[in-house]
Amino acid sequence: MPSAFEAAQRMIAAMLAGRSTAELAQRTRPDTTTPLKPWIRPAKHLEPTFTAANWKVLLGNSGASEADKAELYDAKAQEQLEGYERNIENYIGTLRIPVGVVGPLRVNGIFAKGDYYVPLATSEAALVASYGRGARLISSVGGATTGTLAEAVHRSPGFAFASTTEAGLFVAWICQNFEMLKATAETTTRHGKLVEMSPHVEGDHVYLVFSYTTGDAAGQNMVTIATEAVCRAIEAQSPIKPLYWFVEANFSGDKKASAMSFVGVRGRKVTASVELDGEDVRKQLHTTPQRMEQYWRMSALGGVMSGSIGVQGHYANGLAALYLATGQDAACVAESAVGVTRIELREGDRLFVSVTLPNIIVGTVGGGTNLPTQSAGLNILGLKGAGNARAFAEVCAAVCLAGELSIIGALCAHEFASAHKNLARGKA
Ligand code: NAP
Repeated sequence: MPSAFEAAQRMIAAMLAGRSTAELAQRTRPDTTTPLKPWIRPAKHLEPTFTAANWKVLLGNSGASEADKAELYDAKAQEQLEGYERNIENYIGTLRIPVGVVGPLRVNGIFAKGDYYVPLATSEAALVASYGRGARLISSVGGATTGTLAEAVHRSPGFAFASTTEAGLFVAWICQNFEMLKATAETTTRHGKLVEMSPHVEGDHVYLVFSYTTGDAAGQNMVTIATEAVCRAIEAQSPIKPLYWFVEANFSGDKKASAMSFVGVRGRKVTASVELDGEDVRKQLHTTPQRMEQYWRMSALGGVMSGSIGVQGHYANGLAALYLATGQDAACVAESAVGVTRIELREGDRLFVSVTLPNIIVGTVGGGTNLPTQSAGLNILGLKGAGNARAFAEVCAAVCLAGELSIIGALCAHEFASAHKNLARGKA
């Protein structure tokens, strides 16, 4: 096994590649003498003139050609420019990502109920085929059972005080005035509700974790705006004045997997499960229930030893593709793709498989859900608009279940490499 020292030596050789260390040192110093390339002009509103100006800069100063411009800024991108006003700055066009569809994925859930066609946007071959295989297996045995178990979106402002005593007095005042803070938060939104507040003291710092329900919106903007109003009210009314404060002090789990992931919830905590006959496993996954359980045990320990938060195969694949196809914030896959997959042999040649994801942060209104192609994705699912966010979260869990069944089946049947080789490399 190579040592860290050997790895460092290899990297150093690649860095030097015929150059002296003095040349490298010079190369990496701040460069204030070479004229900077022209700035992209920041534009608050999307207008064709600004887009044209951006392209002029790119055509003269980057590797982009007129052909690249025609790809990104085609007739549709020009025609729909205004529709992107609330979703992008410095607009130069739209990106085409191939979208595949799988299903019907049958879901028997508390909120999701029915057969769903699931759009998946990705450039990764084998992904759609794999999720499609899992969906087929789930639907052929009557569907996945799903549930939404908890919901909340957090903002965690941080406050600094002159002493730990002041920090303590501040927390006491905050707790006595929660109803006022709740009323203040809820002046900023019709659907957002401040449902809980949890104070955390560290020395003379106080973190307040505010938890909201956000209706059918994913809710990150909603809770930011509401919490800013709360912080302003605190600043104005608290008898113990903070020295300084920040609207978010990184205690909310926003866009990162964290130790908080399993303690509570971020967005929605959802679960999906299915029980399979041994015959279904043998026929559709080309392996056995025993081997599936053996794989799960070995991979669970692999996950533990590698320090992963949760134990699962590849939730991020399905979630990223589904989030892109339906106008979700793709960066939230960072926290959403945390969870636990469990596989257990049950009596009578049966196999129980479940997934539980505590941080599915999705919306069926707001964010990117109204953009033209993303809106089409939600329409394919049949989950666009108010009243659908919980069902959507459950479908996310069912999609992850499909992905876990398929990848684990492929690994057990030694089909993992060949599937990728055939689908990704076998084509022209
Ligand atoms: P949003 O589009 O900013 O807000 C949702 C809007 O939908 C609100 O105006 C809300 O009105 C309205 N709405 C109408 N019907 C609703 C219903 N049934 N349920 C809930 N809301 C309804 O979206 P958001 O979900 O708050 O924020 C998501 C976006 O935030 C994503 O695009 C993400 O990229 C971004 N983001 C922001 C931050 C941040 O810190 N600011 C961090 C990460 C991500 P009311 O408010 O009056 O109810």
